Amino acid sequence: MADISNTEKVQLHVPDLEELRGVLQAGLEDNFAEVQVSVVECPDLTKEPFQFPVKGLCGKPRITDVGGVMYPVGEIQKEYNINTISKELELSGAFILGSSTTASRIVGMNGELILLVLTEAEGRPAVNGSYFSSINPADGQCLLEKYRNKFSDCNFGLQGNLYACEGKSGKVIEVRVKRRTGGHSLVTALRKTLEGRYPDKSLALGGTFIIQKGKAKIHIMPREFPAYPLNSVHDIEGWMQPYEVSAPLVCLSVLVSRDPGLDLRVEHTHCFSHHGEGGHYDTDTTPDSVEYLGYFLPAEFVFRIDRPRNMHTVGRD
Ligand code: ZN
Repeated sequence: MADISNTEKVQLHVPDLEELRGVLQAGLEDNFAEVQVSVVECPDLTKEPFQFPVKGLCGKPRITDVGGVMYPVGEIQKEYNINTISKELELSGAFILGSSTTASRIVGMNGELILLVLTEAEGRPAVNGSYFSSINPADGQCLLEKYRNKFSDCNFGLQGNLYACEGKSGKVIEVRVKRRTGGHSLVTALRKTLEGRYPDKSLALGGTFIIQKGKAKIHIMPREFPAYPLNSVHDIEGWMQPYEVSAPLVCLSVLVSRDPGLDLRVEHTHCFSHHGEGGHYDTDTTPDSVEYLGYFLPAEFVFRIDRPRNMHTVGRD
């Protein structure tokens, strides 16, 4: 289990939702043919296709960047407990979603963790709705499994980019886009829009989106670390296994417009499906037919938990 060396907390800029709606509408039009951004009541996320353990994304929204990709510097066995992370985020009984890595001590291998947990609160255990994807040794294909069907713990390994809130209903930003005309993924387009509009401020969005039509490029990390060191983006990209997967895909996403000096990974998105595919989302591969529907909320704080001393600058987004 990792000892959390320190936790840093920074307040983020949170624009009014109506202002944010207008900014995102204008910015996304540079990257998609059809764009409709609205302020809506968060849909019930316990329903299909989400099936999250809570209804909404609202109540004390915050993000965290935990640990980091430290290999080959060391500590590849680093492991974090999500209930402990919840307390570090000053939110017991939080709903936490996002992207992290399986704890190899527990799962027995590396894998992409698609994290969805309602953390423990007084009188109630944690509810783990997470998925994990790995490379199937039988056929080399993507293997997506429900975490709770195999493991009872709430731990993850190495690193995590997570959004946390009280899981309440409330107003959120709805993003509907069709047909990609620009070169950015949806997540990068959102991030670049905020960076362009608020160049002096740090904003973060967390939430979920569905790739409703089309296909996506994802990657999955191999079960074992390689015998050779991963020293560059080229090395890491060569080590990761790419796949093309099909809609509908449910994505869990965190993005930051500008790093306030915390060595943050500025975007990270993992996805799952109900047809056995999932992993780390890179972008869609079908710009002419792709359709996205997403729900996001700006975070009030970013918590940098256990920032590595020898931070790699590779593989940050
Ligand atoms: Zn990832």
